[in-house]
Amino acid sequence: MVNSIQKVGLVAHDNMKPLIVEWIKKHLDKFKKHDLIATGTTGKRIEDATGLKVKKLKSGPLGGDQQLGAMIAEQQLDMLIFFWDPMEPMPHDPDVKALLRLCSVYNIPVACNQATADFIVEGLK
Ligand code: PGA
Repeated sequence: MVNSIQKVGLVAHDNMKPLIVEWIKKHLDKFKKHDLIATGTTGKRIEDATGLKVKKLKSGPLGGDQQLGAMIAEQQLDMLIFFWDPMEPMPHDPDVKALLRLCSVYNIPVACNQATADFIVEGLK
């Protein structure tokens, strides 16, 4: 079990938003106990579908990914679930890469697909 995970970052590209919403619903009991921080549209979709309180940053293409990266650099984020879309080019691809890079720099758990997310969520209290 991972004791120190408090703040969980959530991002999903447009085609992946239904997936992240369903995935959060599947693990609702665990996510009720954590602080959730998301890019703008992802956060709104999760809040509307689950009733969970989500701190919403800017939309990803408008700087939300970079805001999450800054939180990681400041040790304000403990884990990231990032369902990026492997089939669509993104205008903010450099931000996506930078965010994933900072997860490695600061050694925080990051899941980019549902299979990995299922594994790491099992480690949450
Ligand atoms: P969004 O941003 O949640 O505001 O859609 C996600 C992204 O595209 O990085």
